[in-house]
Amino acid sequence: MLEQPTVKCPSCQSDIQAADESGLVNVLQAHLYDEHALEMPRERVRENVSAQLKEFDGYNARPISGA
Ligand SMILES: [Zn+2]
Repeated sequence: MLEQPTVKCPSCQSDIQAADESGLVNVLQAHLYDEHALEMPRERVRENVSAQLKEFDGYNARPISGA
């Protein structure tokens, strides 16, 4: 099963969900525009999304080992 990647809106900390990274860029960009009247360049949105996904992946990639 695929997990839906989630990022946080940098302005209001809402969860932004989409099927994949480019979907997240679209959804977050639209959210910023609709909810915050912010026209953020797509490149900036993409950087924000990929930075957040990297943290997310890093978290998942390292299973917590108690031993
Ligand atoms: Zn927001």
